[in-house]
Amino acid sequence: MDLRYTEEEEHFRDELGSWLVDVLPSVPPPPADHTDLAARRVYDTDWQRMLHDAGYAGIHWPDEFGGRGSTPTEHLIFLEETERAGAPYVGVNFVGQLHAGPTLIAEATDEQQAAHLAPILKGEHVWCQGFSEPGSGSDLASLSTRAFDDGDDYVVSGQKIWTSFAQVADYCELLVRTDADAPKHGGITWLIMPMDLAGIEIRPIETALGSGEFAEMFLDEVRIPKTNRVGAENDGWRVTMVTFAFERGTAFIGEIISSQRLLADLAQVAQKVTRRSGTGWDDIGIRRQFGQLDAELDALWSLTKRNVSQAQRTGMVGPGGSVFKLAYSDLRKRMADLAEQVLGRAGLSIGESLDLSELDHVGERLYTLTLTIAAGTSEIQRNIVGERLLGLPKER
Ligand SMILES: Cc1cc2nc3c(=O)[nH]c(=O)nc-3n(C[C@H](O)[C@H](O)[C@H](O)COP(=O)(O)OP(=O)(O)OC[C@H]3O[C@@H](n4cnc5c(N)ncnc54)[C@H](O)[C@@H]3O)c2cc1C
Repeated sequence: MDLRYTEEEEHFRDELGSWLVDVLPSVPPPPADHTDLAARRVYDTDWQRMLHDAGYAGIHWPDEFGGRGSTPTEHLIFLEETERAGAPYVGVNFVGQLHAGPTLIAEATDEQQAAHLAPILKGEHVWCQGFSEPGSGSDLASLSTRAFDDGDDYVVSGQKIWTSFAQVADYCELLVRTDADAPKHGGITWLIMPMDLAGIEIRPIETALGSGEFAEMFLDEVRIPKTNRVGAENDGWRVTMVTFAFERGTAFIGEIISSQRLLADLAQVAQKVTRRSGTGWDDIGIRRQFGQLDAELDALWSLTKRNVSQAQRTGMVGPGGSVFKLAYSDLRKRMADLAEQVLGRAGLSIGESLDLSELDHVGERLYTLTLTIAAGTSEIQRNIVGERLLGLPKER
């Protein structure tokens, strides 16, 4: 492992930094109404287009597929610098950019790659993920959405849930059961589903935060051409593992920088909020928690570099990605607990807290709860770490 940046990497950082300074003033603020997904799509895809036109789209995608062909370290620098500069987040492009696109690069046919990769990079196509079902989340291989063979098509019926951004997506990475008699991992197929096909009904799910980015997807005899299958029939579980390696590997890295900023903002608040006999910052117990969290964020940044260094050598992040996600999601919950102690009653109101409008603590608190669930729950990450890193016996 070599954690130092090379001269070329520092040059890349400088060049990107200058570009961000030039363009960010021209980027409008994000849509004020966070429930307006159509506006969110326009905002996120416009930014994706700007990245594309400047040669920064698909930073980690190979250049023969339209990406920049950067090393994992340059990808890390990209995430670090864009987050630090306050550039827009990947948003609705999350699935396409971070795991559907990379899965297509690894597993799809030439025709599928030609049809889908460039539009993802240009922000023309938005993708969603149709994996989870009401009865299949952690035990994803038990999924029951059925695909029947009918000539050139699969005819698909079933229900998906928690499909983020389904309402504004053009394509879905969809898991279906093509063989109900095979052992559960052996009867699954990975399909590309155009979202405008007949028989797809999307019902938004409103969250406790009032946002509607999740949806249930009801599929009623949806005809999906067999040419949309990625990998062999019944080999979808292996393809899914490729998708997960990308989803869990790098998806949360950029959040370390925003967490450091959030912690610094909270420290400012702690110095203003008065308590019984002084400010929050006068409380040595509170200051100790700030120090602890700050040190842990530093450690997570080092772990990130270690994972990136490993990816540079092996092409995959591996179980280190699970260690990162587990530790990071736990840390964010503890940060939210600290905010509660600092803010007291002010922390209970949705919206602006004190004069720091960006510190929506209630929103933040609820968001941290999702981190331990999305992309595989903490218990599942513990199983992965136990079995693959520590060599503990397999779960029965
Ligand atoms: C923000 C967010 C975005 C999401 N976006 C999408 C999306 O776009 N597409 C999509 O398909 N899904 C999405 N999901 C769904 C997500 O993948 C599932 O919620 C997750 O896999 C857990 O599945 P579940 O909700 O069915 O919980 P369950 O699997 O029912 O788990 C319930 C509880 O049991 C525990 N548990 C389960 N199995 C074990 C075990 N073997 N050992 C120990 N404990 C266990 C779990 O850890 C959890 O605490 C999203 C979820 C969130 C929070």
